[in-house]
Amino acid sequence: MTDKPHRAIGRKSISATLKPRELMTDTPTLAGAWMAQIITLFPQSFPGVLGESLTGRALQDGLWQLQTYDLRAHGIGKHRNVDDTPAGGGAGMVLRPDVLESAILEARNSARGIMPLVYLSPRGRRFDQSMARNWARMDGVTLLCGRFEGVDERVIQHFGITEVSLGDFVLTGGEIAAQAMIDATVRLLPGVLGNAESAVEESHANGLLEHPQYTKPALWQGQSIPDVLMSGNHAKIAAWRRAMSERITQDRRPDLWAAYQDKS
Ligand code: SAH
Repeated sequence: MTDKPHRAIGRKSISATLKPRELMTDTPTLAGAWMAQIITLFPQSFPGVLGESLTGRALQDGLWQLQTYDLRAHGIGKHRNVDDTPAGGGAGMVLRPDVLESAILEARNSARGIMPLVYLSPRGRRFDQSMARNWARMDGVTLLCGRFEGVDERVIQHFGITEVSLGDFVLTGGEIAAQAMIDATVRLLPGVLGNAESAVEESHANGLLEHPQYTKPALWQGQSIPDVLMSGNHAKIAAWRRAMSERITQDRRPDLWAAYQDKS
């Protein structure tokens, strides 16, 4: 998929004047565009920050597309109930399996190619750069955002859903986690970052954290930019950056450093 053209021939074009939200709701299915499907009680919280800057422009350009599935629309009865009390008692509410099933089936119906079905959950495997890379190689992803106490366990079993966590903390809902993971993935899609190099050299790309960055003014608050960066000697600059990158990784993340040394 890495050699996928940025614009497929015959693809429907979208007006660049559309606002990100309009784009999202009216987005036709674009041939070849990476697809993020979000099942959520709060579809209005998308595209959110994904509508800004590089990810927003890429959405407008049709390099990826976003479809939301409103859980409420699948609710039961006049009040469109989506949740109920936990079996066995305890605090909070649990999202009902029948409601989730209906929303999941609707989303999977318009999924195509290889798209993992993921439940955002603090119990899941922690999201990282290699997962983002894997997702970017696929055709898209279907993300289920929980709320309250989470989802009925039987749904996870029945659909073989993978649980993925943003980190070891508890959020109120899956939406922020979904946006973070989509952001990390979309910026790896071909054509999204302006400079093709920038995803190659940054933190986590090669198992190391990034070297320090500086810009003008050359002298600020009594601190100057390291001489080597002003030297114009590209080999020296690369060596310095490499050394700093290694030192920072060693100091801050012994876990990454150990993994890096095992690899090399
Ligand atoms: N009772 C659950 C937490 C529910 S939090 C538990 O203890 O495991 C409500 C929802 O927020 C979850 O269903 C999940 O979709 C989302 N969420 C919370 N923390 C998250 C995290 N670290 N990563 C991804 N999603 C998270």
